[in-house]
Amino acid sequence: MSLIRLAYASEATFAAKPLEKGVEPHVARILLVSRRNNGKVGLVGGLYYGDNRFFQYLEGEEEAVRDTYQRILQDPRHRNVRTLIEEPVAERSFTNWSMKYVPASADVQAFLQKHHLPEFDPMAFDSTQCEEMIDLIRRSSQDQKLVNYDEPVRIATPTPQTLSPGLKAGLVVAAVGLVVALAVSATLL
Ligand code: FAD
Repeated sequence: MSLIRLAYASEATFAAKPLEKGVEPHVARILLVSRRNNGKVGLVGGLYYGDNRFFQYLEGEEEAVRDTYQRILQDPRHRNVRTLIEEPVAERSFTNWSMKYVPASADVQAFLQKHHLPEFDPMAFDSTQCEEMIDLIRRSSQDQKLVNYDEPVRIATPTPQTLSPGLKAGLVVAAVGLVVALAVSATLL
């Protein structure tokens, strides 16, 4: 069993929609599936989406990382996927995060300014910038709770069945009939 880490950059193929609960809706769907799948195979990591580009970092068992990356590479929601890092690691550094999401934040703006980058273009990151971005994702606090998709998946509980209007009317008629029958039988006794 060997652990590896992998980082890549890519370009989204979808047109960004207005944020819902702090996240672009396409990205929200990617996060939901990623958290479900990654949790099952013990993958940890983080995702950043900005200027219609992705930066993702993954850590885990080599086979799990490679299988997941193969699926990611074939996903039509992004293109021009460029592997930035792919190497063994001694231990995990993203404990408990199956896929941490970092919303566009002051930290990322400061990172771009520090490196004089006019926009978020991870394909052009050098190795120092890559490591800084990974560290930024690792340190990023999700206390702001901008993203509700971190909450555990709720299992739908059955809701009480309501009676259809037809069934309600039938029950009323039956009840009235029963009362009438009881009244008639009482007068006959
Ligand atoms: P489902 O989610 O049921 O999807 C079935 C198929 O439909 C897949 O081929 C999928 O690619 C495709 N599909 C689903 N929704 C759409 C859509 N809206 N538009 C086009 N095709 C769609 N997956 C992970 O498991 N872990 C990750 O960390 C991860 N990171 C990702 C990061 C990025 C930037 C992107 C774009 C995708 C990422 N994915 C990740 C998703 C991955 O590419 C696969 O879609 C996913 O793993 C398939 O999961 P599933 O087998 O449960 O199938």
